[in-house]
Amino acid sequence: MLDRITLENRELSSPIKFFNDLTKPIRKILEKALEGKELSVQECTKLFDASPKDSKGIYKLAQHFQKEANGSQVSFVVNRNINFTNICYMGCKFCGFAKRVEDNGAEWLSIEQIVQRAKEAQARGATEVCIQGGLHPKLSGNFYREIVIGIKKELPDIHIHAFSPFEIWYGASKTKTSYEEFLLDLKECGLGSIPGTAAEILDVDIRNQLTKNKLSTERWIEIIKTAHLVGIPSSATIMYGHIDKTHHWAAHICKIRDIQKETGGFTELVPLSFIYSDSPLFLSDPKNVRKGPNLNEIKKMHSVSRIILNGRINNIQVSWPKLGPKLAKEILQIGANDLGGTLMNESISRAAGGKNGQEITAKELSSIIKAAGKTPTQRNTLYQVLEIFDKHEPIDLEPLVPRGKDNPISFLEMIPKEKL
Ligand code: SF4
Repeated sequence: MLDRITLENRELSSPIKFFNDLTKPIRKILEKALEGKELSVQECTKLFDASPKDSKGIYKLAQHFQKEANGSQVSFVVNRNINFTNICYMGCKFCGFAKRVEDNGAEWLSIEQIVQRAKEAQARGATEVCIQGGLHPKLSGNFYREIVIGIKKELPDIHIHAFSPFEIWYGASKTKTSYEEFLLDLKECGLGSIPGTAAEILDVDIRNQLTKNKLSTERWIEIIKTAHLVGIPSSATIMYGHIDKTHHWAAHICKIRDIQKETGGFTELVPLSFIYSDSPLFLSDPKNVRKGPNLNEIKKMHSVSRIILNGRINNIQVSWPKLGPKLAKEILQIGANDLGGTLMNESISRAAGGKNGQEITAKELSSIIKAAGKTPTQRNTLYQVLEIFDKHEPIDLEPLVPRGKDNPISFLEMIPKEKL
């Protein structure tokens, strides 16, 4: 009896009634996804290329899958970004972050400074530090383990989410160890998880143009799989809206899905829209490089990813540093269920020309989530629920770096109070 009621409820909330208005090819693909069948790269490309009218059905299905996976909860993590150096000579063309040693603004933090930043973060309620840096030519391969040991000695409970596959590749080659040995050592020192950044677009041609293929698609996949197999989970990312096409997006997300089927080690997908303004890739060829994805593409990326990854990866994060909090709130209606972290010191997007600030406090994230009609939920890095803010609010803290007059949630003042 209970099953029947559940089934009937599911039918009532099913997006299928919205499929009638769609063109036949898109309807067939969405029905296939709703039946739990895996979509091919070609089918996913068709979803990314769908017309505005067909897109409505895509958003409905994404919304439906998101509700099934996460209910009304939208999560965030209290964390701090620590970018220990921006000195890097790898020359990735999209990167506005890297500096040469002699450049103004070149930075190098000592272990003591990194630990100090982690302590400040924990005092502000952070459960995670997210640590990444440039590939400084003089960096010793042991520096990565020294960071982890230094932090864990002082803050045994904090989760260290650190080192992209590019940094793992660099550290392993500097220490002349295999990826497995290098990762296992970091895990023993206290590394909790790694960011799945440096993926950009997992396509040989595109990567050749973006990164000169220094970290190839095969290596990225090998390092991520090795991390998962030794028990280090990771996020997954895609950087889109530059020289890429929709078939690259489809192939990329399907690759992420296939890795997940094998390892189960991804915690989330984080779509990262390309920020062009200070990026050498755009500045050197403004005719052929796009200025990041448009609104329609941003919506498609989050909703189609939700559909492709349904049943495999439950968490789709929308990045407020890339999109800004106002648009991030809209994306919570079409497939995303996570607003990422407080960050405290966002610097990678800012270095590429991003204008969305360094920090959004937990209280502000909670206000954005409530304005979207969802339930704010503080999580840890591995998506375990720490606190639900349905009837109360997180502690109101001043941002770590003073903002002056900027208020990232001023747009909420335009929304009638009864809707907040
Ligand atoms: S993306 Fe990373 S590896 Fe590439 S140049 Fe920038 S800092 Fe260096």
